[in-house]
Amino acid sequence: MNAKKKACEETGIYSEEYALSGDTTQEALLALVKTLNEKDDIDGILVQLPLPKHIDEDAVINAITPNKDVDAFHPVNVGRIMTGNYDFAPCTPAGIMELIAESGIDIAGKECVIIGRSNIVGKPMSMLLLHKHGTVTICHSKTQNLAEVVRRGDIVVAAVGRPQMITGDMIKEGAVVIDVGINRLADKTLVGDADFESCAEKASAITPVPGGVGPMTIAMLMKNTVKSAALKQR
Ligand code: NAP
Repeated sequence: MNAKKKACEETGIYSEEYALSGDTTQEALLALVKTLNEKDDIDGILVQLPLPKHIDEDAVINAITPNKDVDAFHPVNVGRIMTGNYDFAPCTPAGIMELIAESGIDIAGKECVIIGRSNIVGKPMSMLLLHKHGTVTICHSKTQNLAEVVRRGDIVVAAVGRPQMITGDMIKEGAVVIDVGINRLADKTLVGDADFESCAEKASAITPVPGGVGPMTIAMLMKNTVKSAALKQR
């Protein structure tokens, strides 16, 4: 959360932080969301996930008014991402799309293999790549012959949450490797879901961890918040 607060300060976005205790009730959290929904000087609401087990995450996300849902997790915004007609792009996939575009990589017609099907990364990532005419495959824990499927990818997005699971032998020569994973090893080292050294030997481009996708996610959160404010002015 600190990095997000810092980004707000750096970009001149007014922010409020509510660091609630772990035993906060669902009712109290929903009441806070309602207050922020109605607050005129707040254009974006972000609920840091995961929430404690006694709180229904869906109920909280559903309570955020869709036009302040800068994370794009509300079902209304998720649906709009499916149709391609959306105001808020989901932050992590949107940051990845920026990285790909800024690197001059064309997605149209490319085999895009995503490992991970979470609501916050894998699924929305598949939609954004599809909108740009990629041929998209989504892998998950039940995927058979994962290495074989990943080896088809011209663009590989690893969003698994398993340290260095994607290795160079799974990467096609010249593929683009996007590493979403943030994993802390026992010695406190931060590593991604891809084994950087071996994947870099095969890849034409690869994102590092830390410093690749993570900062872009925060940048997209700022972008969505500014967009929300601008939309309100219309
Ligand atoms: P998640 O909700 O835990 O989803 C992980 C996905 O990986 C699931 O779909 C799971 O399949 C799949 N998976 C697990 N083991 C697998 C295996 N052996 N083979 C193939 N697929 C497997 O994780 P997430 O929230 O998407 O996050 C993924 C990683 O990205 C984490 O390290 C997280 O910290 C990081 N992350 C980074 C950012 C950023 O800004 N850089 C943002 C969000 C997340 P099933 O669905 O079958 O269980």
